[in-house]
Parts: sequence; C-alpha cells; structure tokens
Amino acid sequence: MKREETQALIEDVMDVLSDESGFLGIREEEKRTEVCASAKEILKTTDKIIKSYIRVSREKNGIVRIPAYRVQHNNISGFYKGGIRFNENVSESEVENLAILMTIKNALHRLPFGGAKGGVHINPKEYSDRELNLIAKKYVQRFKPDLGPNHDIPAPDLGTNERIIDWMVGEYKTIHPGETYLGSFTGKSVENGGAKGRREATGKGTYLSYQWLLNDWFNDLADKNEVERTGQWRTLEYIHEEYTEKGHIDIAIQGFGNVGSVAAREAFEDEKLTHHVVAVSDREVTLYSQDGLNIEVLDAFGYSHNRLPNTREELTDLGIKADIYEAADVLTLSSDVLILAAVEDQIHRDNMKAIPARILVEGANAPLSQEADQYFEETGKIVIPDILVNAGGVIVSYLEWKQSKITEHYSEDEIIDEMAAQMTETFKRVYDTYFYSEGETMRFGCFYLALERLTSLLYKHGKL
Ligand code: GLU
Repeated sequence: MKREETQALIEDVMDVLSDESGFLGIREEEKRTEVCASAKEILKTTDKIIKSYIRVSREKNGIVRIPAYRVQHNNISGFYKGGIRFNENVSESEVENLAILMTIKNALHRLPFGGAKGGVHINPKEYSDRELNLIAKKYVQRFKPDLGPNHDIPAPDLGTNERIIDWMVGEYKTIHPGETYLGSFTGKSVENGGAKGRREATGKGTYLSYQWLLNDWFNDLADKNEVERTGQWRTLEYIHEEYTEKGHIDIAIQGFGNVGSVAAREAFEDEKLTHHVVAVSDREVTLYSQDGLNIEVLDAFGYSHNRLPNTREELTDLGIKADIYEAADVLTLSSDVLILAAVEDQIHRDNMKAIPARILVEGANAPLSQEADQYFEETGKIVIPDILVNAGGVIVSYLEWKQSKITEHYSEDEIIDEMAAQMTETFKRVYDTYFYSEGETMRFGCFYLALERLTSLLYKHGKL
C-alpha cells in the first residue's frame, strides 16, 4: 500500500464513523459530520517531515551525500514512535506512509504512542562498518532537536539492528550529556538497556497472529457457523480439511531476515499445528521442497552468512534437499499459507491472481496493494494485515521504554508473554468483528478500531 492508498483508506473509514449515530455521543448529524471532517483532516495529514543530507567520506568513492528523513505523523496518543530504516527504496512518501501506519498500529494495539518513521537512502550491504557507524551518528546529529525520550523515540527497522541503535544512543548521549538517554531509543542491545527478546518479537508476534486464528477457530468450528463472511469461512474449513487429510499445513515465507527467519522457525517448531515450511526466500533465491525444509539448518546458515544457501553445492553440503527458484517465485509456488516478511509492494494487480495461498500474513509493512487486498477479500482469502500482525516489535519497544523509566528488568519470558497477551487481546477484538460482519477487509476493520480511538482522543482533548 502506498501513501495515497493509506490516506484514501483513512478517508473511507472516517466517512463510515461519521455516519454512525452514536459516535462520540454526538446525536446531531450535522455536528458529527463537522467534527469527523476535522478529525479526517488531522489524521490524513502529517505533523512534520524533516529531510536532511548526510555526507560521508567513503573508503572508495569519495564523499557521498545521502538523503535521510524523519517523519512525525502524529502524537495524539503519545510520543512519536517508529523505526529508522536503511534501505535503497527509502523516499519521502515511503517514510511518510510508514509513519502513518505506525500511528494506526499503535492506536490499534492501544499503546501510548503516536506514529513516526525514519529512513536513510542506502543499501547497507554496500557500506563498511566504519561508514555505517558514521551514518548512524550523523543521523542523530542531523535530527537531534526532534528526538528524545519524551518526544520521538526511534527503533530499528529494515536494514538496521541493535548495533546501529547502540551507536545512535552513544551519539545521543554525547550530544545531551547528563540527560536521561536510555528511553531515547528502543531496540538497543540487552547490555545497553534493551529488552530481552526484542529481535525475535516481530517474527514471533507475526506467527502468533496466524496461529492464534487457526487454533481458536479450529477448536470450535462447529460453534462458529453463524459467521457472515462465507468465503473466508470456507477458507478456514478448507485449511482444516487439508490439515486433517495431510496432517500438516504448507507454509511459504518471503524474506529470511529478523521477521521471516523467526516466523519460519516458529512454524517449523509449532507443537500445536504441524507445518511443512515448503518455501523460503531472500533477495537472491527461493528454496522449495514439498516435504518441508529443515529450518533449523537454514537458520544457522542464515545467521552466519546473512543470506540463504543459493547453489546446489551449498545445499548438498548442508544436507538440504530443495529446488532453487528465483526470489519472486516464493509468492506463486504451491502453499496454503504465505507469510510476507520482506518489503512493501510485493503483491499487486500484475501478480495477485497467481497467488495460490489462501491465508496471507503481512509480517512486513505494506506488502499488498489496496487492489490486491480487495481482490483477496472478494475471492474469500484471509489477509491478516501488517498493523495487526507485526506489532510485536513496537509492543516490546514499549516494554523496553517502560523498563528504562522504572529501572527494572523484565525477563525474556515476561517480555514475550506480555507481548503475546497484548496482541491476543487485539486479535480477539479484530477477528470477531471481522468474521461476524460482511463486506470490508480485515485492514478496514483495523483502521476502523484505530481511527475510532484516535478521533475520540482528539475530541476529548478539545482539538476538534
Ligand atoms: N520498526 C518496527 C515497526 O515497524 C518497530 C517500531 C518501534 O519499535 O518503534 O513496527
């Protein structure tokens, strides 16, 4: 989904809210329409877009000038919050779209944060450690007046990690001596005040969103025959029948980074529902095996090489039997479930009809176009949207930020349990609303819940 599609969805949902007679307790239709129109304007637009250039002297190519951004969408429900990505697709509109999605995600999961996002337009794989360290420090120097533990709190995202965040914290500390700095960033290393389990949180939460749906619904299929959404209902029945017949579910996973590799591992080790992870992919290849891939071995390889094995020899050495396909083929090879854990804009008009999976889970942000989302809804597929699914990271960020305030440390189990509990609470609200109502996509339902909350807050704060 691109920025314009996200903004159009906000408009559509606000129009529906505005038509609801009890909304905000305002009875007169005219007054409600007026209030909702103001809210729509605030929620569609962005508070602040900051663009700067980072100059780095490269080891080989001389001085380069790199565009960098921080976008603060809004802080209605709390301090601005969202990751910083290092990626070659970073642009102002991409970062703004992701900042809007952070606002919606945080409101949906009832976190006390607003939405922001940052980005640096580089392919981090082409930069040395020294260069990355310089870029991280300069990012903080450029954006320092707009960051802070009680204002805007960044975290890792695509292409960044705890090491880069630690460098940023170091620079923040140098710039603001004597100030509290632990709450200024989340996603720090554990030694530097980070939360245990932060790296795995998004992947675990992503898998949980899907596992929870199947477990909950498989357990009492018979009781749930009142649902309105017949196509999606048949999908669940179909997956259940397949499971009974084959004894497992076939799952494909696009992306083998922090989100994809963890989700793959969760599926591979799932004790409640048996899965065959039939396909995994990275930027270079897709590996496919109808009998299921050994994710433990691939994960160990991925950890040490930062990629999947991509030649016959490497696979043979690892004892992995798999066919090698192009990276994009992961989307179209046979599977029941597809977890999208790479980057945005993966499924659109040109390939949506070729997707065999019946359940799609958006571990990455914005991997589907609005048209593809609508098409899947109409054809009875289940799409579990990004803002619902991939909130594990920011929920754990919230715990890390809280930990820095109370100077107490949560154990890894406490962190993961708390994350799972918070996500499950949101799933219940969303899944029940979705399956028992006809028509709109699950994404629409998530936007509805988030925007309802944000508009009520704006109204209570006297901003409308
Ligand atoms: N980058 C993650 C996301 O897109 C986490 C953001 C955070 O922890 O602030 O949700």
